[in-house]
Amino acid sequence: MTDQHDPGLSPATLAVHAGRPHPRQGGAVNPPIPLNSTYVSQGEVPPGELAYARADTDAWHGFEEALAALEGAGERGIVFSSGMAAVAAVLSLVPDGGTLVLPRHAYQTTSGYADELAERHGVTVRRVDIADTDAVVAALDGADLLLIESPTNPMLEVADLPALLAAARERGVPTAVDNTFATPLGQRPLTLGADLVLHSVSKYLAGHSDVILGAVLTSDATLAERIRGYRTVHGAVAGPFEVWLALRGLRTLPLRFERACANAAELARRLAEHPDVAEVRHPSLPGDPGHERASAHMNAYGAILGVRPVTDPGSGPAATADAVVARCRLWVPATSLGGVESLIERRRRWGTESATVPEDLLRLSVGVEDVEDLWVDLDRALRADTLGG
Ligand SMILES: *Cc1c(COP(=O)(O)O)cnc(C)c1O
Repeated sequence: MTDQHDPGLSPATLAVHAGRPHPRQGGAVNPPIPLNSTYVSQGEVPPGELAYARADTDAWHGFEEALAALEGAGERGIVFSSGMAAVAAVLSLVPDGGTLVLPRHAYQTTSGYADELAERHGVTVRRVDIADTDAVVAALDGADLLLIESPTNPMLEVADLPALLAAARERGVPTAVDNTFATPLGQRPLTLGADLVLHSVSKYLAGHSDVILGAVLTSDATLAERIRGYRTVHGAVAGPFEVWLALRGLRTLPLRFERACANAAELARRLAEHPDVAEVRHPSLPGDPGHERASAHMNAYGAILGVRPVTDPGSGPAATADAVVARCRLWVPATSLGGVESLIERRRRWGTESATVPEDLLRLSVGVEDVEDLWVDLDRALRADTLGG
């Protein structure tokens, strides 16, 4: 249905062109939003032919092809109704009684789901510091899946992705990378040896804080079949309009991500010298623990910052951070990330956030606004403490 593109094209070009209908005189430039639950069919259904929209629908294909092109996946992508549905599909590869290796600072709902697998399905969950390569490799023995997040949420630890993927491959342990934070523009794990990549499309890929969607990518036909089969059976299917919005968002991902990363690096640099800031975490900073690694294998440092304000002795760490959020006028106080608008939140306001995340850590999702406007608002919100305001 759609045009095939040379995978050698740059991501900026693929994001714009992949997954469009084949150009023809009078034809549509964009894919339509087909609304069908069923398709005309009788007799045996050959592979690839549409029959019922829970199993497959052309409403997904444009987005699935475009994302596969960006991630360098050999198989068409597999879109899901949410990032968590994609996580659940990937974790279904761990059998009952099996072993899962997971970052201690994994996305918190992923971490909670792993607890449930442990409780109800006897899965052993080995939680590791994903930045400690030796510790991760030591945890691989007999594991059924290594799920990597890098940079981690919200601590922004950077894994040595090439080393971990190579070590897992040597030991025959399948690997999946949650690439939500880095996006395919920051790193392409499949090209570094990962078996699977997953995304919360709700974040950078769709990019406008208006849809919940997920996706799984792979170059392995057998794995693709299993993941697709999981989607069909569990019914975690995406709506045609959401997928259309996600493809529309994906077209500008390179522009949005480039600006957001540039803004984030500039804000990180200024925050590191701010008198009311105790700590800034961002791999772009030369002193950051993840800086060298990110410089070695990533194409971008990402646009999420971790910031800890200097504690106001009168109120304590959590209240100090809450007060900074409350004083922001431009930065929107909200969870989530990857939209065009800048968001700020104190992560430990969620009772389920890991206790190893500092109480006063603010996660900043830097958007595409003018960096000076972002700075003025943030600077004022941070300073008000020392001004007694
Ligand atoms: C948001 C997120 C998820 C879950 O995605 P949803 O679309 O919210 O279901 C998974 N992993 C990471 C890293 C995320 O940021």
